[in-house]
Amino acid sequence: MDRLIRGNDRFVSGTPKTYVYGEKERATLCEEQKPIAAVVACSDSRVAPEIVFDQPLGALFVSRVPGNVAAESTVWAVDLAVDVFEVPLVVVMGHTGCLAVASSMDKGFVSPWIQQHIGPALNAARSKHGNLSLDQLVEENARHAVQRLLLMSTTLRNAVKSERVSVVPAVYDMATGKVSLAEE
Ligand SMILES: [Zn+2]
Repeated sequence: MDRLIRGNDRFVSGTPKTYVYGEKERATLCEEQKPIAAVVACSDSRVAPEIVFDQPLGALFVSRVPGNVAAESTVWAVDLAVDVFEVPLVVVMGHTGCLAVASSMDKGFVSPWIQQHIGPALNAARSKHGNLSLDQLVEENARHAVQRLLLMSTTLRNAVKSERVSVVPAVYDMATGKVSLAEE
């Protein structure tokens, strides 16, 4: 997580590293990949994890889906990252102003798919905490996706149990550029 936090600090301060991908670098990448983390993020065009965490190609194993939910493809990607590439960290990154989460609050575009994946978690959070702001719902949604991933993936569950992998919910603030952990 330290490398991701340091990378995010560079992004926030507007001093990202310059990554060069010449023939040599591409040849190295062709040979193998050693990602340092798996990231589950929203498909939103403004929240690319490689940029937000200022990481080069080969560093992050990313799964993106609207609302950063634990969809079947997300579970598959996380399993691959944990099992094959042995990443020590899985970050589920929600973001402020998430359209998918907002639409589950009946604002704007509503898709049945979003309702199915996000609706139950957010309704449960509302009945527990009362009315929540969009920012709070984004946090709840990231935490819920972590729980769903653990429920759906035996690989991930076992890796966490043996303390080989950490899974953390986080939120990217689009205004400040900062990624904060969203653990309760
Ligand atoms: Zn989003």
